[in-house]
Amino acid sequence: MVEPGKPLELQWIPIPAAGEEDVLVRVRAAGICHSDAHYRAGRSSMGMIPITLGHEVAGEVEWVGAKVTNVKAGDRVCLHYNISCGNCYYCKTGNEQFCTTVKMIGHHIDGGYAEYIAMPARNAIPLPEEISFEEGATLMCASATALHALRRGRVKDGETVVVFGVGGLGLSAIQLAKALGAADVYAVDIKLDKMELASQYGAIPINASRTNPVEEIRTLTKGKGVDVALEMIGLPATMKQTVESLGVLGRAVIVGLSQMPLEIHPYQTLIGYEAEIIGSNDHLLQELPILIDMARRKVLDTSHVVSQTIPLEAEKINQRLDALENYTNDVRAVIVQQD
Ligand SMILES: [Zn+2]
Ligand SMILES: [Zn+2]
Repeated sequence: MVEPGKPLELQWIPIPAAGEEDVLVRVRAAGICHSDAHYRAGRSSMGMIPITLGHEVAGEVEWVGAKVTNVKAGDRVCLHYNISCGNCYYCKTGNEQFCTTVKMIGHHIDGGYAEYIAMPARNAIPLPEEISFEEGATLMCASATALHALRRGRVKDGETVVVFGVGGLGLSAIQLAKALGAADVYAVDIKLDKMELASQYGAIPINASRTNPVEEIRTLTKGKGVDVALEMIGLPATMKQTVESLGVLGRAVIVGLSQMPLEIHPYQTLIGYEAEIIGSNDHLLQELPILIDMARRKVLDTSHVVSQTIPLEAEKINQRLDALENYTNDVRAVIVQQD
């Protein structure tokens, strides 16, 4: 990315330097994410310009620094995109996404739309043979964020869950909720194809264009409401519905982004139920091995996610970013590189 608002360009740059605690990774797959379209458009301040985009990365370890013990050359790995210091208060208390100097690859520093990337070795997570590089790359973003949201919502065995918004996040959340032991999982959307996808993955679909989802959830849960409700759309109206769907001791987890105020009736929806509203932001390095294991055991199937692979070519990448920008379709593309 050489200039905000302009198409990406293919340029020759040096192979990045890696230090004694780093790995140099030969990139095999890099997901093209909706955030990348925002970055290219100049809607988010970047850590540097020019910058190589790409935060969903999997590949093969090419070289390791002298102090690296967790991976070795030739290993298949995927990369946690947030690089934290490991030493500040937040890092030391296991909340490294709040690290005071956190840097995201493909946003603050060079990312994975490239042949090589250098990273701290602790950000490299082994990727089992059963999982393709493409799938490994896309696990690093939406699925990981869905798992973090469910963990923030403390989903327990036998509980009921509702997911508002059946996009990439929502489809992962449905499957992960089941894998974490949820009994019934409801999925709210307004598009028929999303309803069908949600039922394919074991959710009970609720079409909000035909029915009031809050009333429908009360009916389906015999008046109780759900234990955990996730908002993955980013609209005040659906956030309100998310909170209103809760039962006694229910937890509403807000993942979708919005700048608009959220208005609720404190007694009717919160105090009277001892309900909680919880924010959930990004995910943690420690959650990624759990997620990869779920994908390996096939309790998380992300085959619906990757629907197109493209080579490392500026024109093709720009076309995909254009499509994301214009919402022409949900096709999720991954840049794939062989030798
Ligand atoms: Zn992403
Ligand atoms: Zn830190």
